[in-house]
Amino acid sequence: MAPKKHSGFMMFVNEWRQNNSQGRNMTLAQAVTHCGDMWKNLTMQQRGPYNSSAKDADVQARATKERLNCCGQAISDVDKAQREMTDSVLQMKRTIERMVMDAKKSHDLENTKFVFCAFNYFTKALKSDVYMPAEFAACEYSLKEGIMSVYSTLIDPGHIIFGQASDAQQHASTTHGLPLPPKALGEKNMEKLYSQIVAYLTKCHGNKPLIVFTPTENMAVVKSCMRFLACESDKDALDGLNKIIVYDIQYLFLVLKKEVLSIAGLPDDKINIYVTDTIFLRDFFEFTPEIACQFHEVNDRAKYCTQSMVKRWCFIFSDYMCGDLAITVKPGKHIPPKTRPNYKVIPADGSSLSRESSFDSFYSLPGSRSTQGDKNRNASPTGSQRSTASAYVPTDHTVFASGLNEGTEFPSLGDRRPKGRRAPAGGAGQRELGAWNLPAPSRTLNEFSDDDFSVVGAGNRNRH
Ligand SMILES: [Zn+2]
Repeated sequence: MAPKKHSGFMMFVNEWRQNNSQGRNMTLAQAVTHCGDMWKNLTMQQRGPYNSSAKDADVQARATKERLNCCGQAISDVDKAQREMTDSVLQMKRTIERMVMDAKKSHDLENTKFVFCAFNYFTKALKSDVYMPAEFAACEYSLKEGIMSVYSTLIDPGHIIFGQASDAQQHASTTHGLPLPPKALGEKNMEKLYSQIVAYLTKCHGNKPLIVFTPTENMAVVKSCMRFLACESDKDALDGLNKIIVYDIQYLFLVLKKEVLSIAGLPDDKINIYVTDTIFLRDFFEFTPEIACQFHEVNDRAKYCTQSMVKRWCFIFSDYMCGDLAITVKPGKHIPPKTRPNYKVIPADGSSLSRESSFDSFYSLPGSRSTQGDKNRNASPTGSQRSTASAYVPTDHTVFASGLNEGTEFPSLGDRRPKGRRAPAGGAGQRELGAWNLPAPSRTLNEFSDDDFSVVGAGNRNRH
């Protein structure tokens, strides 16, 4: 809206009121009525100074007035908000870098704990960033121990935002599938829930700030849901609101990978945010069974379960980094339960293995993989000791193929089998002669003579 214009008449009224004791006792309305007649009697020249000072006041007002953008917001306010946003992102990045660097300096990076957390929501308010929480999960993670503890709960906020039942229904049916309020499951007391969450985070962090990590696109949801829970709780908890800090897990993924590589003495020049984001967002463990909460496991919505999400992030971290630090991965902690590790940490007891790289990547050549597996089997039958060297142990599926016991009986399968599993000596050598199940030769090798080879030229030479 354009600023209200000043008039020469009002300038005259103001001046008259200031200069007359009678005027000072009048209200503005009385003064206007009183001055109306006086103003009528003024000539154009006499009115001139008042009109020009009114004009000056207009110009002055326009100069001091905030400039607005097309949405009617003051441009300076928008700029300020943007600057604060950039500052907070910068501060977040610096804090994450400092956390990781401090841990590396104290040689304790693998034991440093991080807390990952996720919210599912029923619906979002149309004009603000208020989300109604539906499910919450948090999990404590370190590279060495993997998943250390998990906190997970369903939430019943009691109602959904008026007029948004259809949105909520749509969102639920395409994602988490949780029943909507008033039939929602889980914790109804927001105050209690919030204090439980704060207590869990305090247990994880000790006296440090309560920092939780979540993917970039979930940060707004997590911040808003935390605010939602905090609003419903008492004042003590409201103080706690400032204590829970939501940071970007994808940036942590990048910084941590770089530091892990630098500890392992490997080059990190090909690692950047685009590479790590791609790996993180690929969600390799998306269809892992038995890591979701009971509701989502039963209803086959495990992918959208927050408990499954936070565990999957842990698996992605472990999968990408534990190999570089030669950390023995444990099923259920670093990798999904009932999964065999794709590498094994073996001792470097002066054997030739110590020359090998610390991590045999999943993508290494199949040939090198099987030889390392064989060496590993000889060097460390238990595989329980740790060292800087490791080797890949191939998963042997051929054993289950058509119930064959011997590689030689179906050699095309047997060739893929590690040598260590071959049948013991005593007939093994003989069997391997007929490697392709060809009919056995009727004569032994030393029964052949030159006459068996009818080479024309050679025969002629003998005769002469
Ligand atoms: Zn769930």
